[in-house]
Amino acid sequence: MTLGGMTDVIVIGGGIAGVSAAASLAADGASVELLEAERHLAFHTTGRSAALYFESYGHPTIRALSKASRRWFEDPPAGTTDGPLLSPRGALMIAPADQVEALETSIAQAREHGTEIHRIAPADAVEMVPTIRQEKIVAASHEPGAADMDVAAIHQAFVRQLRRAGGLIHTGAGVTALRRTSTWHVTTGSGGHHQAPVVVDAAGAWCDEVAVMAGARPVGLVPKRRTVFMVTAPVGSSHWPLVATAGHTFYFKPEGTQLLCSPADETPSAPCDARPDEVDIASAIERINEATNLGIRSVRSSWAGLRSFVPDGGMVIGFDDDVDGFFWLAGQGGTGIQTSPAAGALAADLIADRTPAVDPSGFDVARFR
Ligand SMILES: Cc1cc2nc3c(=O)[nH]c(=O)nc-3n(C[C@H](O)[C@H](O)[C@H](O)COP(=O)(O)OP(=O)(O)OC[C@H]3O[C@@H](n4cnc5c(N)ncnc54)[C@H](O)[C@@H]3O)c2cc1C
Repeated sequence: MTLGGMTDVIVIGGGIAGVSAAASLAADGASVELLEAERHLAFHTTGRSAALYFESYGHPTIRALSKASRRWFEDPPAGTTDGPLLSPRGALMIAPADQVEALETSIAQAREHGTEIHRIAPADAVEMVPTIRQEKIVAASHEPGAADMDVAAIHQAFVRQLRRAGGLIHTGAGVTALRRTSTWHVTTGSGGHHQAPVVVDAAGAWCDEVAVMAGARPVGLVPKRRTVFMVTAPVGSSHWPLVATAGHTFYFKPEGTQLLCSPADETPSAPCDARPDEVDIASAIERINEATNLGIRSVRSSWAGLRSFVPDGGMVIGFDDDVDGFFWLAGQGGTGIQTSPAAGALAADLIADRTPAVDPSGFDVARFR
């Protein structure tokens, strides 16, 4: 690290994006301060995910990040975790007649990135997950490498790495003003004043708002609400893979004695503490009950979170093209956890002006200018 001064980098946001970048920077020798608006880290989207590592999911540049992250999940830095971060799950994608094209596209894209995926017959899908009504599907695929992630442990691993390297974390420290002289002056609502030459915008759904505060042009980030609800799982279902429709109309997966279900909704929203909508849950239950024999009648709990997307569905990782020392880490969408090790490392490499392991060109903010 060639950066100098008291604090080298201020990271705004204590979700998975912020802590992964902060940990990578600190592990490289930078002095890092992380500012989080809430009293607890991971309060927003990071604490609300479905916790699946699904390599074939998302924009092509994101798939490259997911793949590059797997090794870190399987072999995290020594002393940062107490147990495995991934556990086998697999992902079964099913398609009724009108979703076959979507299924074929997802198989082709997975193979392009070298992800193991198999086209399987509807009868084989039903053998794996007997609750699926075979007459409702005409095609299916299975991705055996998909895995459950321990999101809390992953987040904590980055926090431990950051703290061990001397990084500071301030919670209840929402950034309210950013001013640039020869360095950044960052003011928080709690009265804090912090200075550093580089600011990383890892504020999740609020990334555009933070950018505007810093005098940068927004990237057109759109937070989209996604709902999750838990139902009692049928006996003998704990080994089922995640089941998702190719057309993104619902998914479900076992989680202990329950099934975690989602309408796969994407309702645009202002940045906020997202809440589930009863109508989304009811319509998901209808779709799941039609495609399966689960017969869901009641919901044990539910929540919602915001998945934030830039216009092309990729991410923005890199320095702003206009405003000095302002670094974007935005647009994590539905893959921010599974990409976090590689995304954090990419951010640290670009800030330190090193050649990154992953091609950075597809993440440049300039593509939206
Ligand atoms: C239902 C659901 C299912 C999902 N499933 C998966 C999955 O299976 N796999 C996967 O990889 N991903 C999944 N995701 C996506 C993943 O959760 C997100 O991509 C990821 O958590 C985004 O992390 P983040 O750090 O960018 O945002 P956040 O976790 O929201 O963190 C941003 C932080 O910035 C803080 N902040 C905002 N403004 C300020 C400010 N002015 N000053 C200081 N702090 C500020 C916020 O308080 C917040 O804590 C899912 C998301 C949802 C909602």
